[in-house]
Amino acid sequence: MRKTDDLLIELNRAFDSYVKSFFPFEYQNKTYRLVDIYVASPWARCDVCGNHPIKEVSVIGSSDGRQLRVGNDCIDRITNRRLSEWFNDYRRNLQNIINNRKYIDGLSSIIEAYERMNFHFKCQMETL
Ligand SMILES: [Zn+2]
Repeated sequence: MRKTDDLLIELNRAFDSYVKSFFPFEYQNKTYRLVDIYVASPWARCDVCGNHPIKEVSVIGSSDGRQLRVGNDCIDRITNRRLSEWFNDYRRNLQNIINNRKYIDGLSSIIEAYERMNFHFKCQMETL
């Protein structure tokens, strides 16, 4: 597997376990889980405070099937976490990995070749 894929899996895992550390959570006597996070186009309205426009939207769903679209300030407030900041970091890292895929994979194959060469060299030394 490519180094880039490893990094992407790792990044997803980290985000996943962060989200799972406080979801599902209680809000107005209902249990909500995270359904989706996306950038709205056109901009949306926050179902919690009524603010418009919101660009980054967290969708949360309750056990009775109700869904709320929530802006950054409100999702951070009702979860009492910095979810929006975390998500922005996640997205930035994701973009970084994708943009640098060529270099990451290229570098790891250079390192692998170097390690193979070293191993080969060591084996030769031992047989002398
Ligand atoms: Zn709001």
